[in-house]
Amino acid sequence: MERYRVKPGQTIKLQDWDPHETGAFDEGKSAGKKHLKTLNSEIESLQELLYAEDKHKVLVVLQGMDTSGKDGTIRHAFEGVNPNGVHVANFKKPTDEELAHDYLWRVHKQVPAKGKLTIFNRSHYEDVLVVRVHNLVPPEVWGKRYDQINEFERMLAETGTTILKFYLHINKDEQKERLEARLDDPEKVWKFNPGDLKERALWDEYTQAYEAVLNQTSTAWAPWYIVPSNRKWYRNMVVATVVKNTLQSLNMQHPKNGADLSEIVIE
Ligand code: AMP
Ligand code: MG
Repeated sequence: MERYRVKPGQTIKLQDWDPHETGAFDEGKSAGKKHLKTLNSEIESLQELLYAEDKHKVLVVLQGMDTSGKDGTIRHAFEGVNPNGVHVANFKKPTDEELAHDYLWRVHKQVPAKGKLTIFNRSHYEDVLVVRVHNLVPPEVWGKRYDQINEFERMLAETGTTILKFYLHINKDEQKERLEARLDDPEKVWKFNPGDLKERALWDEYTQAYEAVLNQTSTAWAPWYIVPSNRKWYRNMVVATVVKNTLQSLNMQHPKNGADLSEIVIE
């Protein structure tokens, strides 16, 4: 999975990253889906351990163009985790109250507590993506945010938060198919937002804004992964694998019970 991690300072041109590839798993879709089930149960146990140990905090950030599959990734890569220890935070258009504060205010409120796994469905990165593309604030303002975000994430990391960031990479043709599929499917049509077509027209601007994010905010303490996402099963598998490997690397231990249990008899 290291091949998908953006090294700090690495220059990213997204056209060089194939959204269609399945290179780390060449056994195909049905084997991939089966493998995901194994990963799901491993993540489930690791998340129980995270909760029991009550020491680490884990933050997963999901970003990607419309239809790239942020919701689907949450449903499939994290299938089976205990909702008690997991929180999904969705970041929509800021409210008036949120806009009256600094842009990280609403984000900081949602970061994970000890023992918790939090998934950001969109994030503070919108403040250098949609905000940049639509000139919602001047360049002098958003231009400072890359460093501010790096420092914010550094503070979170230094206070015990493990951060993983995934950019779900699809191409424009794939988005067309997915938007058409939404229009045609009575179960998906609710998701079709005519506003998405305006964003689609800004595809190149969004690509540039994503490249700036990937170039400037992939750090040792909060790395980005570029996830090939044209194939949903592969996208889910890549995200689940990185999450599993990262949770394993925390070397968590089931806590001992501090009480003296030697005399206890259950009647
Ligand atoms: P969705 O995730 O499809 O429900 O859409 C949420 C919408 O909120 C997207 O169009 C985002 O671009 C938008 N959004 C999220 N964060 C911000 C932000 N900080 N400023 C402006 N728009 C935002
Ligand atoms: Mg949407």
